Amino acid sequence: MTLMLDMPTLVLNTGLSAVYAMVAMLFVWRVHSSELAVRFWGGAFLALGAGAVLVGLRNKLPDFWTIVIGNLLIMAGYFMLHVGTALFTRRPVFWRSAIGITLASAAALAYWSLVTPNIRIRVAVFSGAMVIACALIVRDLLRASRGPQQLTYGAVATVFVISIIATLVRATDALIDPEYTQLFSGGVIQVLWFAASQAAIFLSPFGFLLLTSQRLQLRLDRLANEDELTGVLNRRAFLARTLELLADLPRGQSTALLALDLDHFKRLNDTHGHAAGDAVLRNFARTVTMQLRPDDLFARVGGEEFWILLPDTDVTGATQLAERLRAAVEAMEVSYGRDTLTITVSIGVSAVSQGDVSQALTAADGALYAAKEQGRNCVSVA
Ligand code: GH3
Ligand code: MG
Ligand code: MG
Repeated sequence: MTLMLDMPTLVLNTGLSAVYAMVAMLFVWRVHSSELAVRFWGGAFLALGAGAVLVGLRNKLPDFWTIVIGNLLIMAGYFMLHVGTALFTRRPVFWRSAIGITLASAAALAYWSLVTPNIRIRVAVFSGAMVIACALIVRDLLRASRGPQQLTYGAVATVFVISIIATLVRATDALIDPEYTQLFSGGVIQVLWFAASQAAIFLSPFGFLLLTSQRLQLRLDRLANEDELTGVLNRRAFLARTLELLADLPRGQSTALLALDLDHFKRLNDTHGHAAGDAVLRNFARTVTMQLRPDDLFARVGGEEFWILLPDTDVTGATQLAERLRAAVEAMEVSYGRDTLTITVSIGVSAVSQGDVSQALTAADGALYAAKEQGRNCVSVA
């Protein structure tokens, strides 16, 4: 079956679109100049675009340009997408393989177009190089596909997986059909392969741009909401999320609050130095986090002062948890240089009644003060 489509025009058009994608990447790079990957993605779309334009000019320019240089640029473009993706996802870049495969494939295309023309071998060679480059891209995208950016990574990977499948189908078709002569015949497999490649070239720039801006957004969110030393929430984020959480709370559900303060922390700093104190703070935050549920809110609100909000927990449950935390911190040993540091914590417990956080904070603080009075390393209930 032949679809009456003018393939060279389509290829030419796709090439121009890729060049436009490069212009968009250039703008993104000016804004996010720290993201080296964007430079390679931009360069990739320039190479893909220029290559596709040359291929689209088949029979209007010498075969050397349309077949050898055109396909060389397209293969280089796919490998540059791999370089950009590997840099972005902090995975190894296969420089030597990428350059080696591109140049060897271009030499093979030159031989099988200028010396002994054989389109079936040419399709197989080009397809092999393209599949390797796309497989590297997909591998890096899937490995990075976690957390809040999972969906975007998955979507971009899918586009390239479809492209790989279509390329394999087309190469198989070329290899098993002895009559395969026309690259631009407009046959169904040819058109489907082209549509899949076009989808990758049209859609992946959006994906790459989205990944870049999402990453920046996440970095800003973290800067705004997290405590730098321990990685737990800061006071602002704790209060904001507490208010959100209490607003959504089903009526009658109890919520509890813990106020924690490390004991004689100044003494530890004075004896072992500020850096040792920081190491203890980081370990303390990790130890406590391990005991909490995903919905609990944990924040550092002062030098060695922390708050924990416990949704769906009454004072009895909160007191039991506080006691577990106290014991876990007491058992904690922090290696620092030659020293093994230990610390204890005092904890005040209060109930959040009628969604009044400030009242609960005052109560938990009073209970904490009482725990200090009782000799520290203990739990006191408001
Ligand atoms: P108490 O048992 O009564 O709580 O005694 P304390 O020594 O822990 O209480 P105090 O509030 O007097 O001391 C807190 C110390 O925490 C003082 C300050 O030097 C130290 N500190 C505050 N922020 C940091 C920090 O970011 N890193 C380190 N290493 N120390 C800090
Ligand atoms: Mg203290
Ligand atoms: Mg203190």
